[in-house]
Amino acid sequence: MTIKEHIQELRNILSEHNYNYYVLDNPTISDYEFDTMLKELQSLEAEYPEFYDPNSPSQRVGGEITKSFETIPHDYRMYSLDNSYSTEDLKDWENRIKKLIDGAIQYTCELKYDGASISLTYENGILIRALTRGDGVQGDNVTANVKTIKSVPLKLKGDFPLKFDIRGEIVLPFAGFNKMNEERIEIGEEPYRNPRNTASGSLKLQDSAEVAKRPLDCLLYHLIGTNIDVTSQFGSLEKARQWGFKVPKAAKLVNSLDEVFEFINYWDIHRHNLPYETDGVVIKVNNLAQQEELGYTAKSPRWAIAYKFKAEQVSTKLNSISYQVGRTGAITPVANLEPVELAGTIVKRASLHNADQIEKLDIRVGDEVFVEKGGEIIPKIIAVDLNKRLPDSHVTNFISHCPECNTELVRQEGEAQHYCPNYNGCKPQIIGRIQHFISRKAMDIEGLGGETVALLVNAGLINNYSDLYELTKEEVIPLERMAEKSADNLVEGIKESISIPFERVLYALGIRYVGETVAKKLARHYKSIEAIAKATEEDLMNVDEIGIKIAASVQEFFKSDENIKIIERLRLFGVQLEISADLLKGQTDKLKGEIIVISGVFETVSRDELKKLIEDNGGKVSSSISSKTSFIVAGDNMGPSKKQKAEQLNIPLINENEFLHKIK
Ligand code: AMP
Ligand code: ZN
Repeated sequence: MTIKEHIQELRNILSEHNYNYYVLDNPTISDYEFDTMLKELQSLEAEYPEFYDPNSPSQRVGGEITKSFETIPHDYRMYSLDNSYSTEDLKDWENRIKKLIDGAIQYTCELKYDGASISLTYENGILIRALTRGDGVQGDNVTANVKTIKSVPLKLKGDFPLKFDIRGEIVLPFAGFNKMNEERIEIGEEPYRNPRNTASGSLKLQDSAEVAKRPLDCLLYHLIGTNIDVTSQFGSLEKARQWGFKVPKAAKLVNSLDEVFEFINYWDIHRHNLPYETDGVVIKVNNLAQQEELGYTAKSPRWAIAYKFKAEQVSTKLNSISYQVGRTGAITPVANLEPVELAGTIVKRASLHNADQIEKLDIRVGDEVFVEKGGEIIPKIIAVDLNKRLPDSHVTNFISHCPECNTELVRQEGEAQHYCPNYNGCKPQIIGRIQHFISRKAMDIEGLGGETVALLVNAGLINNYSDLYELTKEEVIPLERMAEKSADNLVEGIKESISIPFERVLYALGIRYVGETVAKKLARHYKSIEAIAKATEEDLMNVDEIGIKIAASVQEFFKSDENIKIIERLRLFGVQLEISADLLKGQTDKLKGEIIVISGVFETVSRDELKKLIEDNGGKVSSSISSKTSFIVAGDNMGPSKKQKAEQLNIPLINENEFLHKIK
């Protein structure tokens, strides 16, 4: 087999497994096997760039940057749907359409997925474009981002038409949404409010590699084009499925409105078990010839109608508001409710997010409030029932002092959250920071759990994470539920953690906004903690993806004498505070001192690879051209304004081959 054939074979196998995993939800190999094959493909593609294929499964990781999204007209308009809320509404709809068409009517019933609508264009079985709905006439080109969504086929199978559009919904399943939020809370960011907005926000991210990390899914429901060999909606769903699209199995073909009602009643209950949010059912006339006869109004098709589920809502009493202090000192108000059943679970608490939210709802203790629950972890308070407000109720004043340490709270300009600034003396902050330090993605200390950390802090045995390394077995044995063996494991686990690589140590320090990815970038760029501590804000912002918010937070962290002392102690105990020699292999100084801008699209290397090559050879990547820029690595389609600026400042342009030659 030639190299080219081998690469092609790997691509085919990986595409098939990708399909099994993300479209069919039925993986047939382990993640490990998949990753091994993917790595092999990636290294072959890097070695033989002449076999580049934009639709290779390796391209799912993204890397393309979209500065501003181009607006493009839809070939076929994207309509919205008329809504209905009752069986009466649906009967009226059927009566209206019966006057316009002859013959029996069958309906396709589908779930109405709550996400961001998307229109995909395929030509010769290849995804060539993805547009958002926009105003229905034209939408934004989000192709680079959509290509990273694993359930979107990049290449189709079977007997697909030469050219067609397919429409669907990009959704963020609850599990992924909740996980993303846990990670955000970990680094001190505010959690996202709901999956739908997060899904549509994701499509507009500039860095497709960021989109690739989000567990988005794409559910399809509508084929559109001129040469498609189908005669019914239900048939077209089946076809789309055969070509490799993810078309939910819930769709049902029915013969009467009564059966439509059955479908609605069934899903009104069972939708709560689905992995993603649905807000109703869409009923479509099944026969495409009948659809054509019915046509469209100015806004929506006459042949379809949405039935909206009533949101599950209950009202209950707000007993009190309590305030929680997070690891970063952020204060979150929590509503304590009179327990009430909602969508099958008992709800006792709801998040109130921040002071703005309290003010917006004008929520007061004693109020009767409406609570709604989606698949998010914490239910939401939608509104106050003002009719039931007690005459002697008081406006809620947000607390002014920390409920844990009584320090006066601060609220930075432009921020919604209040903070307790007592970084070194506020218990939940101290405990939370150490819990973060030992967590799996950070120092991953075996034998030590979050509850034990709290016990250790409360017993006065530790006060910051560097104290962990001085703990002895004798000190921990007297703790609750601590046997000799577990004390051994604990001390041993802590000792072993000194081999955790620098980038994870950096993440473990718990610098606000420094998540895993940012920690990696900083570690790779600066190579040691001293270099990071010394970097100016401007310098930090030159690192890829580091903005003012992160730069300021890093500076703030290293300004504290207390933090410096803790880091010195970590050093003493042998914790890794610089990048290990292994990672420095393959690195040179060839580009030392050079500030390099990457612009345009490249044939043989991805932008990410270019960036890595520059950094590995000692250069710096900058996102904007200035008089300090050494040169620009320019690909195709370099932006006209960048070109102009480069000319003005007389900055040399080199192409990718020249660049690769330079570092050879
Ligand atoms: P609305 O935004 O309320 O006008 O509802 C119309 C939108 O529902 C469409 O633009 C789609 O994005 C979305 N939708 C979700 N599921 C379906 C489905 N099964 N069939 C048609 N549209 C759907
Ligand atoms: Zn406090």
